[in-house]
Amino acid sequence: MGVGKYIIAMDQGTTSSRAILFNKLGEIVSAAQHEFRQIYPKPGWVEHDPMDIWSTQMGVTMEAMQKVDAKPEDIAAIGITNQRETTVVWDAVTGRPVCNAIVWQCRRTADMIDRIKSAGKADMITAKTGLIPDAYFSASKIAWILENVPGAGERAERGELRFGTVDSWLIWNLTGGAVHATDRTNASRTMLYDIHRLCWDDELLELFGVPRSMLPEVYPSRHVFGTTSLFGGEIPIAGAAGDQQSALFGQCGFEAGDVKNTYGTGGFMLMNTGRDAVNSRQGLLTTIAASPDDSVCYALEGSVFIAGAAIQWLRDEMRMLKNSPQSEEYCTAVPDSGGVYVVPAFSGMGAPYWDQYARGTVVGITRGTSKEHLIRATVESLAYQTNDLLLAMKEEAGLGITALKVDGGACANDFLMQFQSDISDITIQRPKCIETTALGAAYLAGLSVGYWRDTDEVRENWQCGRVFEPHLAKEEKEKLLKGWRRAVKCAIYWADEEDNGDV
Ligand code: ADP
Repeated sequence: MGVGKYIIAMDQGTTSSRAILFNKLGEIVSAAQHEFRQIYPKPGWVEHDPMDIWSTQMGVTMEAMQKVDAKPEDIAAIGITNQRETTVVWDAVTGRPVCNAIVWQCRRTADMIDRIKSAGKADMITAKTGLIPDAYFSASKIAWILENVPGAGERAERGELRFGTVDSWLIWNLTGGAVHATDRTNASRTMLYDIHRLCWDDELLELFGVPRSMLPEVYPSRHVFGTTSLFGGEIPIAGAAGDQQSALFGQCGFEAGDVKNTYGTGGFMLMNTGRDAVNSRQGLLTTIAASPDDSVCYALEGSVFIAGAAIQWLRDEMRMLKNSPQSEEYCTAVPDSGGVYVVPAFSGMGAPYWDQYARGTVVGITRGTSKEHLIRATVESLAYQTNDLLLAMKEEAGLGITALKVDGGACANDFLMQFQSDISDITIQRPKCIETTALGAAYLAGLSVGYWRDTDEVRENWQCGRVFEPHLAKEEKEKLLKGWRRAVKCAIYWADEEDNGDV
């Protein structure tokens, strides 16, 4: 048993840095959050200043400790969770970044990825990394820095530079440059890491021109990476995981078949597939999940590009809502969507459709269609898209799914949760603590230092806030799903100029 009273989770996200102190029951004792600057140098480019990331993360951690007057000896360990794939390159001696961090959303390397695909490398990349080649992942971002920042390529060749995802960058700084490390979940998002052999892959390093000397050591997510003395006493850094994997862990998704879905701006579904790395034929990603011990544990991952963002669209562009939670009142004001379907394919459709040209579509409008119907249909679209992912996962993993654990801002919408349960014919479990991302990092760190004995003890903390059980008759459900599939076809057909011809 660690001596400290609390575990600190550092939750370094895309728009803000947060720190949460948890107690043994997994309850939030104190929290602090700070937004930081988003830098958009050109259309489609997104950067962060690595010093902003570091300073805001330090600031909120101290603030969260101060709020409850926590001393370093009160902290049993620090766990880190972070925005994934975002790439930082810094000088090995001075620790100074050579340029801004290139954020996961940044599309500047899309052409590079197209060239790599044209050269026939896609299958090799997928076979090794479980990823579908894309500019999101770190590999092409590192390559861009080495090619475009003056002198960076030569300095990297001379062994003078270090690369890291945000967890590595924080660990490096927390340990005063003594530790250059990452965890397997973050490594699995770089597109340089062989998720089967558990090592950086020479062929991929060569393809992207990345010298091995730049790369961090890779450890399990539950691991004592080092200690920090920056808070006035020694505190172990005892866990790290990428945000989505951390959320699965925070939901106690330790076993094969456990699934969580996050209803945030976008949607992220992760299913633990245990020791099996399942290859997807429907465009899901295979990735490494956070494991409660040293063994490797895999997950299937699918994402919905537009989830809560569709509600924001109703609020900001359609001006139909004052705020997102208000959507629920409108949904329950009508008995159904009146035959209306909204397919929010604002920027194409992801798994299992993968059509980047599809566009947002509304079908089924009649003279009687009201604002309530349109809002309800939009909220329902979050559930339909989630259901599509769920079906794909069930089929590919061949695992029965008994329950879906949910988190993220939009899971607060009771109507949405009940509708999800109905059309997916599944029990939905919404935990009391929906800060599952931070909680996952805390659990990893706490398990490392013996603050929690084992996963059974952690499981006792998982408290259900509310359960939603399916009630809808099978025929009704089938009818709704059939309508959704037809609506999706319309969204795809609309964008396909060749098929449509000129009328
Ligand atoms: P992120 O972490 O991606 O920024 P959050 O998990 O904070 O997102 O969720 C915010 C999203 O959830 C927003 O898109 C918002 O529109 C949506 N949202 C929040 N509350 C509700 C609600 N009660 N009903 C529907 N959508 C909601």
